[in-house]
Parts: sequence; structure tokens; C-alpha cells
Amino acid sequence: MSNDGCALSIDLGGTKVEIAIVDPQGTILTHERLPTHVENGAERVVEDILSGATALMQRSSYKIIAVGAGVAGQISSNGKEVLFAPNLKWRNFPFKEKLEKRLSLPCTILNDVRAATWGEWLHGAGKNCSDFLCLFLGTGIGGGIVAGGHLINGFSNAAGELGHTTLREGGRLCSCGHRGCLEAYAGGWGIAVTLKEAATSSPKKAAALIALAGGDAKALKAEHLSEAVKKNDPFAQEIYSQVIKSLSNGCVTFVNAFNPKLLIFGGGVALGMPMLLEKVQEEVKKSALGATGSPLQVIPATLGNTAVVIGAAAAALQSATFGSDSLRVHSA
Ligand SMILES: [Zn+2]
Repeated sequence: MSNDGCALSIDLGGTKVEIAIVDPQGTILTHERLPTHVENGAERVVEDILSGATALMQRSSYKIIAVGAGVAGQISSNGKEVLFAPNLKWRNFPFKEKLEKRLSLPCTILNDVRAATWGEWLHGAGKNCSDFLCLFLGTGIGGGIVAGGHLINGFSNAAGELGHTTLREGGRLCSCGHRGCLEAYAGGWGIAVTLKEAATSSPKKAAALIALAGGDAKALKAEHLSEAVKKNDPFAQEIYSQVIKSLSNGCVTFVNAFNPKLLIFGGGVALGMPMLLEKVQEEVKKSALGATGSPLQVIPATLGNTAVVIGAAAAALQSATFGSDSLRVHSA
């Protein structure tokens, strides 16, 4: 057990909130999960978080010196407001102030993917590496960029949206409103659309896939693709090759742009697909420029779904120690 000051950490998503107490070594000491009642409005969601957090702190005797929150949404440059969080239906919500007022502790608010990247950097697969990219493949594709020992925030605190890289001009409509994004072909929802389209146009070839979805082509999801590939279904393998191709093409762009040492893949979709990392590494090394492709390693994220709470806690402790303007890893 750590006697150093710990952080209270919050991973706020559209369906659930994870609240944890995390020590400076990145160990989760205790945690609790609550449902996010988005329908009740922002104020009530905050009330639920505060009661959960207060109960968690009262049940344990850890010394809490800072609060970190990773939010599934865009955070203002000053780190005070959640500007837009579609899954929470929040717009311009002063989340930092709400937390600080009641908890009387300094709070650090980050985008959740940025928090997860921070977590992987300090305590996960990116440890001691000053140049890497994180790609989290879940329903969509989230990205985080660490370059030259800095987590890249961008001018308006919105950098890292790698999933919305244009892959095909005039292609499939994406959740962002644009067409042909990487996410629309290699994110969980994009893979599901591809499967449904394939099942509709080639029902006979897709018979094994459709059977995995209980005979309902409309119920096809990304995990059915990985199941069918594992069973060596040739049609599924064909579709899987296209997914790998799309993902690799996106990664070639990122690798040529940022020259990372590591490409860290996280998220259920990425880690559930057989040999995905190996295949992407092979493709990217083939197509990226020699100087950027040859040193590249594609590796799995190691913190799983704890990355956001661990990262938000680390950012909060860093911010409490060095000041909020200094969110840097000084040793990197
Ligand atoms: Zn998009």
C-alpha cells in the first residue's frame, strides 16, 4: 500500500462511470463502477459521480491529493469545460468547477483517449518511449500521439483523431459527418456495416458468418468476423484482409507523419482479431518509407480498460506536483 498521495480517478463514458483510487505507481487500490444515467442530465450525472466518489474515499483511508477525469468528449483548451460529448449529450459543461467545488481538490480533465494514452505511456506498453502512437479500436477508433516526449494536444486540444483520417474519397458516411474515414472501415461499427453489406450482396458465401449472428444478418458485429476468421471461413478471411488493408493504409500515413518507434493497439476489436498486430506490422513495414517503417514495432496495449483511470490519475498527480501547465513526462 502506498503512503504517498493518491488520485481519485474517473473514467466517464456514455454508459458507465468507473471511479478508482490510484497510487503514484499506477496501481488501482480500489474502484467502483456506476451506470451513467445520461437521460437524467449533466447535473444528476455529476451528483451520481460525486456520491460514488465520496463513498469510495470514505470506505478507504488513502490520502487523496488530486482528482483526474477522462471524459468521452472534447475538452476545452483550458481544461475546464467539456465542450462536446455526444454520448453524454453534454455541451459546454463546466465539469472541472463542479468537481472541484464539491471535492475541494485540484481536478484535471482530459479527453478519455488522451488519458488512456497517458496511462500507457507512464505505466503500460509505452513506458520509457518518447515517440509512439496509440490506436484504440472499439466501436470507433481513438488515437493518441506521443512525439518527442510530449503528448500532443494540438492548438484547440483536439489532436489525435486518427480514426477520422480520410481513406476513401466519397466513401462510407462516418459518424463525424465526413465520408471515407478510416473508422468507417476498420472501427467496430465500420466492420459491422461491411459485414452486413457483404451478407446482403452475397448471402450464400456469408452463410457461416450469418449463422454466427444467430441467422440474422442485421445482427452481424465485428466479433463475428474474428470468430469466423478463427474458423478459417474463406469469405470472412477475404473481408478480414480488406480490414487489415484499410487499417494498414491508415497506419502507413501515421508512421510516415510521426515516425513513431511503437504503434500500440488497444481496444476489444484490435485485440480480439487473430494476428491483427502482426499483419499490420508486416503491411506497414512494406509500404511506409524505409526510414520510418524499418524501426517500427506494433505491440498490444497492456492496461486494457483500466488505461483511462490509470492515465487520468497519473495526469492529475503530475499536474498537482508540477502545475497544470506542465503536463509533460519529465523523464522521457
Ligand atoms: Zn470520421
